[in-house]
Amino acid sequence: MTKEFKRPDGRGIEELRPISAKVGIIPNADGSAMYQSGNTIAIAAVYGPKKMHPQHQQNPSTGQLRCNYNMLSFSVDERIRPGRNKRAMEISEVTKWALEPVLMLEEFPNQVVDVFIYITQADAGTRCAGINAASMALAHAGIPMKNLITSISVGKLDKQLVVDLTKEEEDFHTGEGPTDIPVSMTPDGKITHLQLDGKIEVKQLQEVLDMAKKACQEVYKVQEKALKEFIGGED
Ligand code: ADP
Repeated sequence: MTKEFKRPDGRGIEELRPISAKVGIIPNADGSAMYQSGNTIAIAAVYGPKKMHPQHQQNPSTGQLRCNYNMLSFSVDERIRPGRNKRAMEISEVTKWALEPVLMLEEFPNQVVDVFIYITQADAGTRCAGINAASMALAHAGIPMKNLITSISVGKLDKQLVVDLTKEEEDFHTGEGPTDIPVSMTPDGKITHLQLDGKIEVKQLQEVLDMAKKACQEVYKVQEKALKEFIGGED
């Protein structure tokens, strides 16, 4: 693949947007975190484990995770109609699938852990940012976890693979157009979530996964640092 490929914001093909992360941003929540990648900002708040209500949804053999993703009305230039929509419902569900495999919820029968994710600013990659924030917030809440989850989107612009797409890149319409592949994984590369919006050849998918793994290691370092900073800052 060509190294001279020019991205609209001048980044290298494997260069992530500037990342920042902070843990413990919502005092009333049991766990909370913020994750920012360029102009995409996600905040996550965790409440629980607590008794599951409605009661008929309780499961005596395990605790359950509920995720609620929402993009705030003024997170994009054109105001979004507030409230649930199909996209938010889909992202809430994939967020749950991405995070569940690392949570040891069997320790909390009949209980639920609620995760609320708000996108305060959106410039693509919001499901990944939300998953990164939620993973930190769950750790901050002290929910037993086998590992953190880290998420990044790899994209194909025409034939060129790039990491961490912006909205401008997602709207790329030259040649084969854009393909967006959000991937979530543990730091040792166990994939818990992969979506594919567009077209890609099977043989290029391995390259996508290699790029995602490398990028996720960078994201993981930022998540780990934010959690350590929080522990260091506690009285
Ligand atoms: P992701 O944010 O995970 O990449 P999508 O591919 O669905 O998820 O959305 C890409 C981007 O499109 C969002 O991050 C946001 O910048 C923009 N977007 C999504 N929904 C809307 C909307 N209803 N109005 C305006 N922009 C939107």
